[in-house]
Amino acid sequence: MVWFLPRLLAILLALALGGGLGLLAGAMLGLAEIGVIVGAVAAVAAAVAVDVLRAVRLMDWMRGDLSTEAPRSAGFWGELGYRLERALQARDLALAQERHRLEEFLSAIEASPNGVLLLDDKDQIVWCSAVAADHLGLDARRDLQQPITNLVRMPAFVAYLQEGGWREPVSFVAPGGQGNLQVVVRGYGDDGQKLVITQDVTERMRSDAMRRDFVANVSHEIRTPLTVLAGFVETMASLPLTEAERARVIALMAQQTDRMQLLVSDLLSLAQLEGSPRPPTDRWLPVAPLLQRALSDAITLSAGRHQTVLLALPEIELAGLEAELFSAVANLVNNAVRYTPSGGRITLGCVLKPDGSAEIEVHDSGPGIAREHLPRLTERFYRVDGSRSRDTGGTGLGLAIVKHVIQRHGGMLEIDSELGQGSRFRLLLPAGRVRSLGRLARPA
Ligand code: ADP
Repeated sequence: MVWFLPRLLAILLALALGGGLGLLAGAMLGLAEIGVIVGAVAAVAAAVAVDVLRAVRLMDWMRGDLSTEAPRSAGFWGELGYRLERALQARDLALAQERHRLEEFLSAIEASPNGVLLLDDKDQIVWCSAVAADHLGLDARRDLQQPITNLVRMPAFVAYLQEGGWREPVSFVAPGGQGNLQVVVRGYGDDGQKLVITQDVTERMRSDAMRRDFVANVSHEIRTPLTVLAGFVETMASLPLTEAERARVIALMAQQTDRMQLLVSDLLSLAQLEGSPRPPTDRWLPVAPLLQRALSDAITLSAGRHQTVLLALPEIELAGLEAELFSAVANLVNNAVRYTPSGGRITLGCVLKPDGSAEIEVHDSGPGIAREHLPRLTERFYRVDGSRSRDTGGTGLGLAIVKHVIQRHGGMLEIDSELGQGSRFRLLLPAGRVRSLGRLARPA
């Protein structure tokens, strides 16, 4: 009650002063007692009037714009105004800090690749992140307070939301039919609110399907030669064979084991390509010996059945891994030999382009490839003519390896072909991985 004392003292002082002055004035008129009373009452009334005036000014301020300064009166009302002003400022600061924290929190949620949605106990949308709105085809502002089941009508989603429990996430085709979504719901708060998290699982489902297909394809590729081998083993075990028959069966068995070995070796190459770091950009290898070696392998494989031509080569070096680049070129030349009928022509060349990039090209006069197959040729195990591929020792993985290698080197594989018009396979290497020996040789 200390704050009250000055106020009391002021009123007592006013009383004493008013009484004193009243006494003096009253004495002159011969009405000393009345003078004291009138003087005291007038002084207290004046003190009260000042108080009321200050209180009214403070009230006016409180009814008006509280962000302005409180009236600076002296005494009790001045201090009350000042303290109110300080309290309001502290509250505004705390509110601003809270708002800032909330905004940061919401931006962090917005930055998440997953969508977040808050529902009340009636499944009405309370808050919705932009990602969730995009996933579920909602409008993050317009659809607030709308029941979510009126807007997202996927039966799998509606049933999941209503079932309760929500132990496992649910997956369904995204509204609009583009991609797949996975949704998980969790309850929170005391009033049945729900947190809904949405995730785009299109890529994951695609790669799961690819993995399943890949395992099925590998199993199929291995099972066929294994079945043949098992048949031959049984034949050898149960039938008395002549020496000539035995030799023929063993040759056929060797053919099947070769096929399995090739497949395993290609699978290992792919696995290695996928698991290893990008090829170095500072290990340079001349292009000419690389192509000469690939062509000499092709000549051996062709055994004189084709005309092979190596075009004039530019004096350039490529940056990368020799084993990988050789395997890419060798796979293309090998395919050209295997798919081009006897008497055909196979050309291997390389050009340095004006922009500094290089293009290695393998061209054959073979049967060509129909347009509809071109986009799928580099898929693992995709074959246009399965029996021709297998009969010539193909695994269906060659072009997948080529594409992987060239992409790891920052380049591209381009395929140009038409039925009956032969095929052209080009490896494009970016300028950053090509340097001209001629330019290097020149004095600086
Ligand atoms: P494969 O081991 O079956 O040759 P690839 O991945 O190397 O597998 O090639 C995929 C398919 O592309 C082959 O099965 C074949 O049908 C087709 N192909 C590849 N190269 C040629 C070519 N030079 N001429 C015609 N078809 C080709």
